[in-house]
Amino acid sequence: MTTIEGNLQQVRERLARACKAADRDVNEVALLAVSKTFDSNAVCLALAAGQHAFGENYVQEGTEKIEALRQLRPDVALQWHCIGPLQSNKTRPVAEHFDWVQSVDRLKIAQRLSEQRPAQLPPLQVCLQVNVDGGANKSGVAPEALTDLARAMARLPRLQLRGLMCIPEPAPDFQTQRDLFLRAKVLFDQLNAQGMGLDTLSMGMSDDLEAAVAAGSTMVRVGRAVFGSRPAKVTSAA
Ligand SMILES: *Cc1c(COP(=O)(O)O)cnc(C)c1O
Repeated sequence: MTTIEGNLQQVRERLARACKAADRDVNEVALLAVSKTFDSNAVCLALAAGQHAFGENYVQEGTEKIEALRQLRPDVALQWHCIGPLQSNKTRPVAEHFDWVQSVDRLKIAQRLSEQRPAQLPPLQVCLQVNVDGGANKSGVAPEALTDLARAMARLPRLQLRGLMCIPEPAPDFQTQRDLFLRAKVLFDQLNAQGMGLDTLSMGMSDDLEAAVAAGSTMVRVGRAVFGSRPAKVTSAA
């Protein structure tokens, strides 16, 4: 068994335990393997272990990996999610290569993605990133502005709004972390109470997926616990 296969098995076991503790069905929570900084070989190993959905943060790295995997494994359809901050001058390659974008937090970005989504592809599946803990310098729409943005996005022809994504600050304990995630769950439920029909609440990473599942996550995005630790990253724009 490869390291990645063993890691994936452990993550799936953690998810199963978290679902059981929260009295939820394990099939309600999808696992997105975050492959940023890891090469296409690592993606192939995860694929061999049954993982088909992958998350990438950086546009160029992601599109190159998507192309590489298409060459290496033309027999399988992988699902690629863009989860990193997006600049408006980088939307075209995202609209052309990815299946999902989870980090939309401005109407301008959403409009560009919709305009640039190639006609022969299905609509781009999108999540709105919401800033649940109010950090002013963080990505994500403020909760007060969420409803208007969601309504405007739902009208864009080449996007399908699927839900919300959030990345709260790490908290010292389970309860605090869960309470931060619950803020996103409340917003998600409010939008659905207004008839938005959302099915995806993307939250939880390697260190806090249990708290996210307890708060109602339907998709956890797990990098290090699947692929191992990442090299210290030089901060650069997507
Ligand atoms: C890197 C990243 C992850 C994965 O984080 P890990 O701590 O490695 O599990 C999840 N979501 C986003 C948006 C990320 O940038």
